[in-house]
Amino acid sequence: MELRRNPTRAVRVGSCTIGGGQPIAVQSMTATHTQNIDATVAQVLDLQNAGADVIRIAVDSPKDAAALKEIRAQVTANLSVDLQENYRLAELVAPYVDKIRYNPGHLYHHERSKPWQEKVAYIAKVAVDNDCALRVGVNCGSVDPAKKAEDYGGDENGPMLASAIEHCDYLDSIGFTRYVVSLKDSDPQNVILVNKQFAQSRPEIPLHLGVTEAGLPPDGIIKTRIAFEQLISQGIGDTIRVSLTVPNNRKHEEIEAGRRIIADIAAGRVRSFVDFGLKTMNIISCPSCSRVENEAFIDLAQQVKEMTTYAQDHKITIAVMGCRVNGPGETDDADLGLWCGPNHVNLKKGPVELGHFKYDEILPRLKAELDQIIAQKSVAS
Ligand code: SF4
Repeated sequence: MELRRNPTRAVRVGSCTIGGGQPIAVQSMTATHTQNIDATVAQVLDLQNAGADVIRIAVDSPKDAAALKEIRAQVTANLSVDLQENYRLAELVAPYVDKIRYNPGHLYHHERSKPWQEKVAYIAKVAVDNDCALRVGVNCGSVDPAKKAEDYGGDENGPMLASAIEHCDYLDSIGFTRYVVSLKDSDPQNVILVNKQFAQSRPEIPLHLGVTEAGLPPDGIIKTRIAFEQLISQGIGDTIRVSLTVPNNRKHEEIEAGRRIIADIAAGRVRSFVDFGLKTMNIISCPSCSRVENEAFIDLAQQVKEMTTYAQDHKITIAVMGCRVNGPGETDDADLGLWCGPNHVNLKKGPVELGHFKYDEILPRLKAELDQIIAQKSVAS
């Protein structure tokens, strides 16, 4: 399945273009001490070899910025930097990177009497002068206090969303459009909600997706997957990062996990119910994990795909899940749902359970139910 993307602006970050119909860019960041130049260069190369499109380096001080200059001289990767509280570091890092991230919630720390607009205008000018893109990175844990003080009628994401939109409006008003936006939270459901809200209100702005503090694999990957499945399937998200708690020598796993999640979504291998908005048959099957109790599940998913080819033109969703833990819940919204146990496959039509069947009995039963749905739909239309 080709992943439909929202028609966002193209934002160039070095040799990579984010948005504008390009494939989703996968990012990671170094976790070494930036002033340890050899270790940081080695990690950049490791991430680049794993296929990273953009690599972020932590720079918190002028000494880190000096190290960045050395690192830049030794690597060709597209680099980005996250400005922490000292926004004035922008001019020290910009000559050596392709993208700068600033957090609207951090701008008030320095030069408190200066309006944030002046600070953003300064960052944008530094970006223009140094051929850099920007990321407006809003984080649930550090939302602009001025926005938090406003009333959003109980909408938990209101301050984050308002802060992002305010900065987009301002950047646009000064003629700077080479930016992407991120709205991150540690709760995947909030990530889904706030990014959907943003994409609805500013569909032309490329989004960088991520779940913060996702944690150790495999749980960290699952959390991230849940959010990305619901967003990427809807055309939302132009670049991603999977943030994992892994030792330095395993940081490339972030890139591998990101690429795997994108490939799985494109193939319909999803662990939650995903509506791809198709007008034809939508078969989703979970990507499988250690919870699978019978390897026959993998073959079954393939057989379901083949058996249902005759019904391809019908808008029907069939979900095939690998285990009894997540299967029952994750198939609720499908027209037909299957989930696999050690010896039997459970079948559900919408929310109604139809019983469990042996692996060699399930396909004919599924076909009978599918035929019935097709017949009902044709009578109804
Ligand atoms: S449905 Fe079960 S087997 Fe499949 S990925 Fe989810 S937990 Fe793992």
